[in-house]
Amino acid sequence: MAIETIEKSEKSLNFIEEIIEESIAKGEKRVQTRFPPEPNGYLHIGHAKSICINFGMAKKYGGKCNLRFDDTNPVKEDTEYVDSIKRDIQWLGFQWAEERYASDYFDQLYDWAVVLIKKGLAYVDDQTQEQIRENRGTVSVPGTPSPWRDRSVEENLDLFERMKNGEFEDGAKVLRAKIDMAHPNMLFRDPIMYRILHADHHRTGDKWCIYPMYDYAHGQCDSIEQITHSICTLEFDVHRPLYDWFIQALEIYPSHQYEFARLNLTYTMMSKRRLLKLVQEGAVMGWDDPRMPTICALRRKGYTPASVRNFAEMVGVAKRDNVIDLGKLEYCVREDLNKIAERRMAVLNPLKVVITNYEEGRKELFTAINNPEDEAAGTRQVPFSKVIYIERDDFMENPPKKFFRLQPGGEVRLRYAYLIKCEEVIKDEEGNIIELRCSYDPMSGNGSSSDGRRVKGVIHWVSAEDAVEAEVRLFNPLFTTEDPNEGCVEGGKTWEDNLNPDSLIKITGYLEPSLKETPIGKAVQFERVGYFCPDTDSTPEKLVFNRTVTLKDSWAKINK
Ligand code: ATP
Ligand code: MG
Repeated sequence: MAIETIEKSEKSLNFIEEIIEESIAKGEKRVQTRFPPEPNGYLHIGHAKSICINFGMAKKYGGKCNLRFDDTNPVKEDTEYVDSIKRDIQWLGFQWAEERYASDYFDQLYDWAVVLIKKGLAYVDDQTQEQIRENRGTVSVPGTPSPWRDRSVEENLDLFERMKNGEFEDGAKVLRAKIDMAHPNMLFRDPIMYRILHADHHRTGDKWCIYPMYDYAHGQCDSIEQITHSICTLEFDVHRPLYDWFIQALEIYPSHQYEFARLNLTYTMMSKRRLLKLVQEGAVMGWDDPRMPTICALRRKGYTPASVRNFAEMVGVAKRDNVIDLGKLEYCVREDLNKIAERRMAVLNPLKVVITNYEEGRKELFTAINNPEDEAAGTRQVPFSKVIYIERDDFMENPPKKFFRLQPGGEVRLRYAYLIKCEEVIKDEEGNIIELRCSYDPMSGNGSSSDGRRVKGVIHWVSAEDAVEAEVRLFNPLFTTEDPNEGCVEGGKTWEDNLNPDSLIKITGYLEPSLKETPIGKAVQFERVGYFCPDTDSTPEKLVFNRTVTLKDSWAKINK
């Protein structure tokens, strides 16, 4: 499935590339894009998609991409978010041309509002928010003009200035564009341009007590930065005519807006408001909890920037809303880690094996290959001794026919080490298997055997006395349903009822000693098990590893 998609997107242009190439053909000399996050939360995988498009297009066409914080809502915004957004973009491998803030342009936006008042295209309205909403009408019923709609230019100029000067309470007045109260596009029914909000802004402090609305601010900010292609998500398509209207009314640089479908993923919730709720209510460990869809969570979980970029490339740019299989994201990280992650041995569900004919106290070191995909990764030494752990699943007392791992009387190869044969199964009083007694073939080191016989099964192991214990965190999707909103009804089931109680499972793993040195966040492959990386909670005294992704696509199985 996936490979086809990658090839296809390499060959043909996506529709945004088509638009850009068309504008270049028509004489556009520059490509200038921007990524405009509101600093009211952490970036998620959906934003990563938008980042890859905006920065990717600028890169591909020799242009520039600005990072512009859309900080027009002081109440919800914070510098903590600004910092995290910058870090996440850089981690993804992109660098902005300029770091800008909508608040940098508050003076200019104010002056332009004055221009519109002078042109008779804006007025101060004293109606309450509620009255304004009621008087907007519906799609089939025209709105009712405000009694303040025909104020004189002088009065509007005076009132707007006094709004700015802080003479009025929050909500007492707004500035509205004077367009058409019967317009079929509801957004044109005299949209609000400014509201009064006596709130401290994380950058402008208490300088302003009026703040511009999205529709008035966004296009004008684009215009100031001479953005050639203002790329945003589909829900803004109804805003585009208004975006154009303000730019035309002000006779300023004509930026253009283009929309693509937002990224949706199965089992994934991307609303910042709801993610914030999960954080605030302690349902997750924080914004970077590896179960979250945020970029910082993916990083903590062991994802690489390349895997996220490849995913964005693989899913392509769609014009229509769709939902992407979460398995595709996992496929991308698996592909990337297969190439770069070093292999190690770790046993997550241990069964003790005593090698009866191996001398007590003897220790050998076997050479293990770090990455069969990358010779330069070299080798390491793995200690072997009389008592080892193997994975419980690798032994069966009464196995089916094609079971090639360990069984009573059967032989198996220990990866990089000896052939062992199961001689005896030790059980506790309740009949649980607690230990295996095995013999080893002393001539069977390094893939050989004493008489040239071949053994089909190869299993991983760790030396019991050398193994280091670690807390291993296994993650499952945060939601039990493909659509987190599945079955939700007004006053009944909510999206929170779809949260997966087993999204985090903590177990103790036994790791080969070299894993102690793994830096935080660096993914390694536990052979035959999956990709893992040390968590930010990991310390030399208490190792904590996250499962980044399973080795095979166990997706269908997990979610049955
Ligand atoms: P909120 O969840 O608070 O409504 P948002 O997700 O739209 O906000 P912004 O900070 O406004 O967050 O988004 C910045 C940019 O990222 C916007 O251009 C937006 O269209 C884009 N974006 C947001 N979510 C997605 C998504 N799921 N897929 C693609 N692009 C997205
Ligand atoms: Mg938004």
